[in-house]
Amino acid sequence: MKKVVIIGCGPAGLFAANELAGKFKVVVLDSSPKPGGSGLKSDGKLNFHPEIGGNLLDFMDEDEAWKLLEYIEQLFVSLGAPKANFESDKLERLKLKAAKAGVKFIPIRQSHIGSDELPVIIGKFVERLEKKGVEFRFGVKVLDLVAEGGRISKVVFNGGSIKTDYVLAAPGRSGSEWLTSTVTKLGVKTKYNPIDIGVRVEVPAEIFDEIVFEYKSWDPKFHIYTPSYDDFVRTFCVSPRGYVIKEFYEEGLFGVNGHSFRRTSSNNTNFAFLVRVSLTEPLENTMLYGKRIAQITNTLGGGKPIIQRLGDLIRHRRSTWDRIKRSYITPTLKGVTPGDIAMAYPHRIIQDIIEGLERLDRVVPGVFNETTLLYAPEIKFYAMRIETSKHLQTAIKNLFVAGDGAGVSRGIVGAAATGIIAARGILRSEGISPS
Ligand SMILES: Cc1cc2nc3c(=O)[nH]c(=O)nc-3n(C[C@H](O)[C@H](O)[C@H](O)COP(=O)(O)OP(=O)(O)OC[C@H]3O[C@@H](n4cnc5c(N)ncnc54)[C@H](O)[C@@H]3O)c2cc1C
Repeated sequence: MKKVVIIGCGPAGLFAANELAGKFKVVVLDSSPKPGGSGLKSDGKLNFHPEIGGNLLDFMDEDEAWKLLEYIEQLFVSLGAPKANFESDKLERLKLKAAKAGVKFIPIRQSHIGSDELPVIIGKFVERLEKKGVEFRFGVKVLDLVAEGGRISKVVFNGGSIKTDYVLAAPGRSGSEWLTSTVTKLGVKTKYNPIDIGVRVEVPAEIFDEIVFEYKSWDPKFHIYTPSYDDFVRTFCVSPRGYVIKEFYEEGLFGVNGHSFRRTSSNNTNFAFLVRVSLTEPLENTMLYGKRIAQITNTLGGGKPIIQRLGDLIRHRRSTWDRIKRSYITPTLKGVTPGDIAMAYPHRIIQDIIEGLERLDRVVPGVFNETTLLYAPEIKFYAMRIETSKHLQTAIKNLFVAGDGAGVSRGIVGAAATGIIAARGILRSEGISPS
């Protein structure tokens, strides 16, 4: 039996292993002590849409993409995840309401596992794969890929190496820089992805309750083009009755994110409100741009994220604890510094956030409120996009890539889908049909 070494045990690596199990000797290596990748740290919101969390249409037509998503959903459900809810008539009504306000709403099949349930589901998946003969090795950091005669022959890790017929690299965001430099050395091309820069918005939960409970949209995706700059702004990772949390980026930088749990809840709902930034000549390095903004914001916040009331941002003044205490919303993240986000962010992004929230208020009344809380920085860094075929095969014929680390996905389902695409690419190379 030929061997495939999978680097990374996040959603991409796990779903890839599931495709290959029984047909190849599969060895999954992960530098962390347990499975799940950043998927495990997440909230487990599953979005089943070809253009959310990556773009599956880069790899297949729409029909095929929907079939693949259905397959992934069934697999999640078989592991104990709740079935996605999708009440199309309600979501169509929300789409119409949004359209009238000049906002695009994307109806999506969604399911929410919850941070507390996710480890159980991942545990079951690993157990199932082990029964199918997949070998997992944790605490194993891959350091290099050795090529001979235009093919990868060996994977080198801390403490040893392993010979292999194929490599499927899915090291996630945390391994993206390593992956980019390793494949570049092997002659594979890469390019910068756009970046998302914005804030985490927190409002009293009642403001989103209508969308979440009446329209049945747990993580509503609203897309807006702003009037002044015509920039793309969107809601992302809505956490109903959830908590804002601090998140660490690379190089000691940090920002914020949001979580909600199945069993514990707060009185607030938070969501990311993000401006898409693409750069061309002379600087294409969106990552560097994002890091600089994170750095200034972290410095101004004195080592904590900045919090500001929307009313203060609009009136060009910093927030203070006194002003925040006068609001009828209490922040769920306490380790923050009241300040002025406009001191750290470019004017264009501030303008986009204010105009975008004003527009969103027409669909979600109450969002554009004086006391709405904004936390910064909230930046979504995406990995460099590695050049591949539609089967996620690189210029090195036995090296396939998948997931967030290869810049081809940005979410659990997208990562899982690309893991499957890459695994099926390997099967195809061997003339084996996927079953
Ligand atoms: C706080 C947070 C909340 C999130 N919430 C959601 C959500 O609700 N819904 C959603 O769809 N997405 C969410 N995401 C994003 C989601 O978790 C990722 O998109 C997804 O996990 C990417 O999967 P992946 O398999 O590509 O990579 P990962 O899940 O990051 O897994 C990659 C694995 O590779 C390992 N690795 C890295 N480098 C090496 C190396 N050199 N050698 C060996 N192993 C290595 C890592 O240890 C890691 O275990 C969230 C992310 C975060 C951080």
